[in-house]
Amino acid sequence: MKSSITRRRFLETTSFAGAGLSLSLPQFAFAAESAADKPAKLGGKPLCAGFPKWPVFDQTEEKALLDTLHSGEWFRGGGGAVKGFEEAYQKLTGAKHCLATASGTAALTTVLGALDIGPGDEVLIPPYTFVATYNVVVLNYALPVFVDTDLESFQMDANKVEAAIRKETRIILPVHIGGSPVNLDKILDVGQKHAIPVVEDACQAHLAEWRGRKVGTWGLAGCFSFQASKNLNSGEGGAVLTNDAKLAEVCYNFHNQGRARQVSGYNFSYSGTRGSNLRLSEFQGNLLVAQMTRVIEQTQRRTENANYLTEMLSAIPGIKPAKLYEGVTRSAYHLYMFRYDKSQFAGMARSKFLDALSAEGVPCSGGYSVMNKDDYVSGLAKNKHFLKVYGEQRMKDWLEQNQNCPQNERLCQEGVWFTQNMLLGPRTQMEQIAEAIRRIQKHATELARA
Ligand SMILES: *Cc1c(COP(=O)(O)O)cnc(C)c1O
Repeated sequence: MKSSITRRRFLETTSFAGAGLSLSLPQFAFAAESAADKPAKLGGKPLCAGFPKWPVFDQTEEKALLDTLHSGEWFRGGGGAVKGFEEAYQKLTGAKHCLATASGTAALTTVLGALDIGPGDEVLIPPYTFVATYNVVVLNYALPVFVDTDLESFQMDANKVEAAIRKETRIILPVHIGGSPVNLDKILDVGQKHAIPVVEDACQAHLAEWRGRKVGTWGLAGCFSFQASKNLNSGEGGAVLTNDAKLAEVCYNFHNQGRARQVSGYNFSYSGTRGSNLRLSEFQGNLLVAQMTRVIEQTQRRTENANYLTEMLSAIPGIKPAKLYEGVTRSAYHLYMFRYDKSQFAGMARSKFLDALSAEGVPCSGGYSVMNKDDYVSGLAKNKHFLKVYGEQRMKDWLEQNQNCPQNERLCQEGVWFTQNMLLGPRTQMEQIAEAIRRIQKHATELARA
């Protein structure tokens, strides 16, 4: 330990001296340069530090929370904050109706409940998603059917949707993963052809646009999450967007214990739908109104930085940023996603690449693991309720079909993610990320052995 510190100090000193002496002492300068260039994982100095923290807040949020506290109206029944947020979010997205919910999961649950999805129904979902997309289907005892991933875009492969449709299929539920839109043209076409509604899981895609129009407003409904990690955040929270007035009303009733909006006289009125309590609180509503003062500027900054990063990373052999479809006019960049090809990095495993990149001060992850083959999902084939509803043969076929998402498996091995807050910093931080990856590539042979 002691000797390595001494050695590093020595190298730092020589590196400093070497800068001025490089002409007269070329050999010495070369040694100094390679020391300065040493990957952090092998004892060099990390290239990056201090990515922006998340969440972002100041007195605006403080005031919003205190206003609600002092108003004494803490739930949506009496106050105006949730309603105010719904109006603002509806305007921002251009949707006709917005309903705030307790979470993104609650938003999806509300739409599935309003559409009366239940036992015997099938819902098409991608396997490359947060597990909530799967859970909301299964909790209704409907069968989630996986459509393989498009390796290049990380999205549900629109070309494989039609083949998964059966007479039991009730909803197509694509996810705009990472905040980048799926191929909506193709998916909406297939839905229309088979008269199956498309519900967008837009939980990661605030303000993302397809052909100039916000995602979440293209399908019959779109669902958003305001959980703490998301681009618009109230700790927990969610929303449903729809242009269908009738669906909006049923969604409201569902999220409010099946009770209709108008409560007349001294009696509660029941609407005839099932329901639960999936309401957002006034504290969260007002916090969202405050956070919305920042969301447009933050979204623009992410886009600029992500585009710059893509330009730089595309030039590095073996780094393939997720492709955006031709119809994408804006990605929300909830995640910055790319594929790592180890053959361009001396065969170094992705886990070692992630280690080396983290050591450079760049927080990163390998993203989702293979959901369709996970025991959590496979176990459904043995669930007594599912066996009763679908029968042994259907569950056996279902299990077999789940084994057949080869592109998704490959993506789960190659994917690398950065989180949205990293895109809120200055351009120089994007340059540092690219520099860190180039440095790792240059020293890949040593790093692979380490
Ligand atoms: C976050 C997320 C959800 C669930 O949202 P919560 O607010 O955490 O319940 C659903 N789908 C996707 C794709 C998500 O990223």
